[in-house]
Amino acid sequence: MKALVFDNTLKLDNNYPIPEPKDGEVLIKTKMVGICNTDYEITKGYMDYKGILGHEFVGVVEKVGKGVSKDLLKKRVVGEINLACEDCSYCHKNLQRHCPNRSTLGIYKKDGCFCEYFTLPQQNVIVVPDCIDDISATLVEPLAAAYEIIEQIHIKPDSKVAILGDGKLGLCVSLVFNALNIDYVHIGKHEEKLQITKNLGAKTKLLEELKETDLASFDIVVEATGSVNGFEKSASLVKPRGILVLKSTIAAKEGLNLASIVVNEITIIGSRCGQFKPVLRLLEKGRIDVKPLVSGIYNVDDFESAFKKNQDKGTLKVLVQF
Ligand SMILES: [Zn+2]
Ligand SMILES: [Zn+2]
Repeated sequence: MKALVFDNTLKLDNNYPIPEPKDGEVLIKTKMVGICNTDYEITKGYMDYKGILGHEFVGVVEKVGKGVSKDLLKKRVVGEINLACEDCSYCHKNLQRHCPNRSTLGIYKKDGCFCEYFTLPQQNVIVVPDCIDDISATLVEPLAAAYEIIEQIHIKPDSKVAILGDGKLGLCVSLVFNALNIDYVHIGKHEEKLQITKNLGAKTKLLEELKETDLASFDIVVEATGSVNGFEKSASLVKPRGILVLKSTIAAKEGLNLASIVVNEITIIGSRCGQFKPVLRLLEKGRIDVKPLVSGIYNVDDFESAFKKNQDKGTLKVLVQF
């Protein structure tokens, strides 16, 4: 089968062996895969990962291993990316994403989905309702990461909320908040990206338009900038005793200025992957339109163009078809 393998270099292997589903697993035939910044970071050495890339997908169950219901055959599915042990205190609390024994699809100790066939445990797969198209289904994983915020904090109807950052991550948070009828302002540097939020009928503001009076004025700020400057700016917008939600992993080696966090007694919450089901429900009800996030769809044979497009300025989501 075709598989996009990273082993110091990224290359398309046309003869990679098709895996066999083990007991309790399903074999999935890939339809579409999303390129994530994590994939790009892996090609730069992140996680020391070697193997097939990819963790955002939609596919069809082609084969089931022992102990898996045949009802899943031919069903279109998406899947949670963390493969957990199901036998530790985190797994017992339904927090498989924090299982200390986990491997992660295409990121850690498990071949990813950038290939024609791959396996997942049956408890990881979720059937996609017919009314949700392939493009929307492929974006469930990043949208679930945005929805995770809702699981972590209580946003009251009168909470003053801001999202800082207008890249893919910030826009996914914006789409989810809008779908949930949260009142927020989306702050960013790029007029054309903020336009996606504006088109939803939500409030936007360019970073340069922020005024002195905006400082320390928000109950909740979601940081989705991926930069140290963005982190410090986000912190400066949070009210005393407010909440700062960190969505981007800021790989900062230089010193962070945390004085305002202490002085204003700000609660910082780290936020990563989320559950798929609530996002599927929002998509099913037509509350989220992902199309404005898609910058290009490529065939797997043209993966080089797809990865190049992913690095271009202004690109949002790049998808690859199988
Ligand atoms: Zn991702
Ligand atoms: Zn576990």
